[in-house]
Amino acid sequence: MSIWANVATKQPEVRAVEDVVIVGSGPAGYTAALYAARAVFRPLLVEGLSPGGLLQGAELVENFPGYPRGVLGPQLLADLRAQAERFGTRFLTQLVDRVELAGAPGAPHRLWAGGREISTRAVVLAMGAAPRTLGVPGEQELGGGRGVAYCAVCEAPLYAGRDTIVIGGGDSAMEEALGLARHARSVVLVHRRSEFSASPIMRQRVLDAAKIRVLTPYLVEAFVAGTDGKLAATRLRHVTDGAIEVLASAGAFVAIGHTPSSVLVREAVETDARGYVVCRPGSRETSAPGVFACGDLVDARYRQAVTAAASGCEAALDAQRYLETH
Ligand code: NAP
Repeated sequence: MSIWANVATKQPEVRAVEDVVIVGSGPAGYTAALYAARAVFRPLLVEGLSPGGLLQGAELVENFPGYPRGVLGPQLLADLRAQAERFGTRFLTQLVDRVELAGAPGAPHRLWAGGREISTRAVVLAMGAAPRTLGVPGEQELGGGRGVAYCAVCEAPLYAGRDTIVIGGGDSAMEEALGLARHARSVVLVHRRSEFSASPIMRQRVLDAAKIRVLTPYLVEAFVAGTDGKLAATRLRHVTDGAIEVLASAGAFVAIGHTPSSVLVREAVETDARGYVVCRPGSRETSAPGVFACGDLVDARYRQAVTAAASGCEAALDAQRYLETH
């Protein structure tokens, strides 16, 4: 049975006014909860309807300190959650669908989750980021298990023995291609430039992989369905000479970065042009008093589980200082 099977069975009591509510699970949210709980604030963590965030789809995580042999993404999340729970974190398996942040220091904020109103003195935002889409014809129609996907490590086994493609040139694309190559018959890595932004070690692993072919510089024009309504081919256009290439493939994995999940708070706290929540320099404070932010929601640059966890710790320490002074 999945280690996450029973997550939603127990739902906690919500106090009249909470000290700190953490919105979002993942390494940032769970670490913020761990620190807030050890500071004896009994935090309430609203973890979404499918807790864990992007790491839930990660296969072997080899770069989280403390796991010399690596750890499966879902196991790492379960460990982080259990550690936060041990010190008194309460988990509400719901989505926050509305917030009203107080303008003045010390005044309570109001959040709504699953039809329930929650009042809290401090908030830690840790909603993470979602995969970016290409926005080309066929992408939406062929999503949801019909061939176009955003997480090879989650869905790669479905493409065992099939021809596949991966789109992108960053670390995510390299990781997706390598993960997919363990199952698929072939992987074509398509990128819009001939240079890759991925780290040299990941790039080299891809170049060394027998099953992976690299095709650049090409843009995806469209995903094309077969008679069964599933992906049959991907139409590509050469960036400089415009030549069209059609690749027959059962699976196409889009790995072109992420968009921060900040829609909930765009009107309430300052965000940058890309939608990342802005923190005051040297802190995890947002533009709203008593509201802190961490993880991929604020970080376009590092986006690692360990950096998310570290920023969750910082957000909780800042929240603790705020609660002690207001
Ligand atoms: P990223 O580094 O932002 O790379 C996005 C890639 O997608 C780039 O190659 C970009 O091309 C391409 N792209 C963007 N928009 C596109 C579009 N509309 N059409 C076609 N291609 C498009 O994102 P990421 O790979 O998700 O990595 C994000 C961060 O997480 C990085 O810091 C990375 O190091 C880290 N990460 C680390 C690991 C690991 O260490 N194991 C694994 C995954 C991610 P251009 O280069 O031309 O802009």
